[in-house]
Amino acid sequence: MSYDYLFKIVLVGDCGVGKTQIRNRYTLDEFNPQSKSTIGVEFAFKTVNIDGNEVKGQIWDTSGEERYRAITSAYYRGSVGAVLVYDVTKPKTFEALENWASQLRQYADENIVVCVVGNKIDLPTREVSTAEAERFARGNGFFYMETSALDGTGVESAFRQVMKKIFEIVD
Ligand code: GDP
Repeated sequence: MSYDYLFKIVLVGDCGVGKTQIRNRYTLDEFNPQSKSTIGVEFAFKTVNIDGNEVKGQIWDTSGEERYRAITSAYYRGSVGAVLVYDVTKPKTFEALENWASQLRQYADENIVVCVVGNKIDLPTREVSTAEAERFARGNGFFYMETSALDGTGVESAFRQVMKKIFEIVD
């Protein structure tokens, strides 16, 4: 299929926050609790229409594990969007966003569009408030969305927002 734009978007965040499930939900509309945790790097495509243009998103996710640090600069290279994911039921994964944000500043293009995503909002045990996360996002010049890869809430719209903002920059 032909397309007008190709945007590389990377998912980052601690291991277990749901990066692979978010990618699967977005690109396949599927959630597979059985799927093994990502080893190394994987990507998948999805094309959407933005203001009459076919925009192909290349969505990458990786394991957050230390042993894959060597791939970092290659992972970010050429990316125009980043989705910084944490788990709303695990404050530690929210606190870790500081480190993920500084890694982004180190390796990604300075114009990269960044969306902070609070995932797993289907769970009843939320421990990070929307207000707190919004404050963090705003303070870093990012924007904020909430998702559930499990039931699909917010996933399309988070990627659409990222793509729209990238589109506004490149167009
Ligand atoms: P990654 O290491 O960040 O890629 O995380 P995974 O996508 O492998 O997900 C880690 C675990 O969280 C898996 O057991 C998933 O089934 C679960 N998970 C991911 N997203 C959600 C969600 O939105 N809701 C719930 N309840 N569980 C989720």
